[in-house]
Amino acid sequence: MKDISLFSAAKANAGLDFVTPLKAVLDSHWYVLGNEVKLFEEEFASYVGVGHCVSVANGSDALELALKGLGVEPGHRVVAVANAGFYGSTAIHAVGAQPEYIDVDPATLTLCPKALAAMVESKPAAIIVTHLYGQLANIEEIVRIASAAGVPVLEDCAQSHGAHRNGKQAGSFGTIACFSFYPTKNLGALGDGGAVVTNDGVLAARIRQLRQYGWSQKYHVAIPGGRNSRLDEMQAAILRIKLPHLDTWNELRRSIAKRYNAAFANLDMQLPWSTGDDYVAHLYVVRVKNRVDFSAALKEKMIGTDIHYPIADHHQPAYAVEQARALVVTELACETVISLPCFPGLTDEEVERVIEAVTAYFSREI
Ligand SMILES: *Cc1c(COP(=O)(O)O)cnc(C)c1O
Repeated sequence: MKDISLFSAAKANAGLDFVTPLKAVLDSHWYVLGNEVKLFEEEFASYVGVGHCVSVANGSDALELALKGLGVEPGHRVVAVANAGFYGSTAIHAVGAQPEYIDVDPATLTLCPKALAAMVESKPAAIIVTHLYGQLANIEEIVRIASAAGVPVLEDCAQSHGAHRNGKQAGSFGTIACFSFYPTKNLGALGDGGAVVTNDGVLAARIRQLRQYGWSQKYHVAIPGGRNSRLDEMQAAILRIKLPHLDTWNELRRSIAKRYNAAFANLDMQLPWSTGDDYVAHLYVVRVKNRVDFSAALKEKMIGTDIHYPIADHHQPAYAVEQARALVVTELACETVISLPCFPGLTDEEVERVIEAVTAYFSREI
């Protein structure tokens, strides 16, 4: 019996020709901010359905530069959830601002609009909404509440490339949105990569300056807070090869999630809320009472699992703070979530083996 890992780059990338695009970059001898990056930015903006895409070195930089672009400064407060792996929090701390955590919705595990409505009048500088596990948050309602209060919304789409609702793509709802192209993401490079997208041309121009030393033109530092954070030509060329397949891969992920949801419907665990277009199954995450036993039982059958994420942001040792608000749903989620293998390239037989192992766990004699 072979291992079924939580993710396999070899399987997810099988059959793609990476040599031709890489060779083209090598032959061009142009490695940073060239034609591949320019074309990828155009193609990705068009895919998301927004006016502008500014590529950067990774998803974390995208979040940090987006906050800077929005004018978030030291001392400002930024609303975020505490169950999304600390990425948003890292960016908030990087710009010297303070995270203000609010609870998540128990069905989707994404930012709870009611919790937002209860505090938004305190005028935070921005709101980070993470479309966690590939599930679009109730982003329409969140944007409505935020707009009424005059607070910008940043969508963290690092796990939700291609998720859409009523014809609108993840990343096109808020003021600005961030993507990561880390190799395990639904659209992944062969290394690090990221992007910021927005319909606001002024904001896009500012991010474009921030990603390259704050330059308006070569050696002219026009705005403070600049950095070096660029996507390179090879990664852009790889992403251009992969982007046309994204919807097909998302459909494959979703079809695995659908099979799992159907097979697990009567078991004692909580399943992903949607298997529709608003969920691209970046991670298939269930909630179980005893995940230590559960993961051990799967490990015995050589099935990999992981926990996304085991420690809530406000409990991370480096930044542990008194949390003003009770985060009941967040805390419970952190104790019970566990991820099962779900990625394009997983075979029918492997999906069946996961289903059998999970079903066997719940029918064991106790
Ligand atoms: C992966 C991820 C990031 C960070 O992206 P990197 O490219 O690894 O820096 C940010 N937010 C979320 C939700 C992620 O899953």
